[in-house]
Amino acid sequence: MGNLSENFNHKDFACRCPECRGEYRIHLGLVGILEAIAVHFQKRPKIISAFYCEAFNEKLKREKLSWHAKGKAVNLAIEGIPAAEIFKFAEKTEGINGLGFYPEENMVHIDTRPIEKKELWIKERGKYSPLTTDKRHQYGL
Ligand SMILES: [Zn+2]
Repeated sequence: MGNLSENFNHKDFACRCPECRGEYRIHLGLVGILEAIAVHFQKRPKIISAFYCEAFNEKLKREKLSWHAKGKAVNLAIEGIPAAEIFKFAEKTEGINGLGFYPEENMVHIDTRPIEKKELWIKERGKYSPLTTDKRHQYGL
């Protein structure tokens, strides 16, 4: 039992940069979604990155409106589960309005941005682009 929910602790969502020593911010709706993912796959998702503090976000040169910097985004993987399976489940999950497929890192980005800002993308060779029908076919999404 985590201190935040069944599977999660605050520190799972802390910034990974060396400067802020684990500053964190997390949207509780996102924790609920992660618990639903855990129930579906019968496995605890591994949070690869979550909150980015201001300094870290700046260092990554992300746009000001990064959902990570708002505590509304995580990159996750589940041991033994292909990222494509996580992606497909996430796409059917209400509340996930930002969804990125990172096949080379075998992970998925999910965020709880407002529905009117809904976006799906793919990261290949370090580049982000919109998820097209061709790409869906290529990766079985
Ligand atoms: Zn930081």
